[in-house]
Amino acid sequence: MQLSLINSVIAVAMIDEYKHKGARKKLVEELAAKGITDKTVLKAMLQVPRHYFFNKTFDAHAYVDKAFPIGEGQTISQPYTVAYQTQVLQVHKGEKVLEIGTGSGYQAAILIELGVKLYSIERHEKLYKKAKLLLGKMGYHPTLTCGDGTKGWPEMAPFDKIIVTAGAPVIPKALMSQLAVGGIMVIPVGNEATQKMVCIIKKDEKTFEKIVLKDFAFVPLIGEEGWDA
Ligand code: SAM
Repeated sequence: MQLSLINSVIAVAMIDEYKHKGARKKLVEELAAKGITDKTVLKAMLQVPRHYFFNKTFDAHAYVDKAFPIGEGQTISQPYTVAYQTQVLQVHKGEKVLEIGTGSGYQAAILIELGVKLYSIERHEKLYKKAKLLLGKMGYHPTLTCGDGTKGWPEMAPFDKIIVTAGAPVIPKALMSQLAVGGIMVIPVGNEATQKMVCIIKKDEKTFEKIVLKDFAFVPLIGEEGWDA
């Protein structure tokens, strides 16, 4: 393993102090005030120490409702966005969920807390390795891979739920086909600056219901059915 990667993981403070727990509780109350109503989602967000995903120097930023840089020009999503997408996904224990854009691994940790069997794809090798190491240290063991998530993960399909955590120009066909009948996909779709959150429900192999929700701003989904790098 590269020394810089070891150092950056060691630099993460794996101590959950009262000050962190207090700040997390306040953040979760803020999310509830902003309209997150699913108690299981709020509980998961109360349980996962978000500051573990930050370098110790920046852990004061962990409980502010904002996205934050994680390297490679990418971000850990805003807590409200994580809560919103997770709420729309309506996951149940034991469901098979595919995440596109592992990033820091925070959204993955929230989904695992909710009891799903998580598969997640990240296109940046450095972020993939860092997330794998950190999630393992936290006791989370999703199935992770590094690659272009716009192609989905055909060998592991179908998925009960699919969550895309980067802004897509279109809904990738591969993801539509890898969604199980009765399944839900949540994906931000739009231009590179802003996207509408879209919820897709697969009614049968050929019929999809599309619900267009609120505006968000994600980093771009890059790949064969995404934006160019
Ligand atoms: N879920 C992440 C978290 O909790 O930190 C959010 C990460 S960030 C908003 C979006 C991530 O999607 C970035 O890490 C980016 O590299 C990744 N990404 C973009 N296009 C991708 C693709 N085609 N396949 C897989 N990952 C991709």
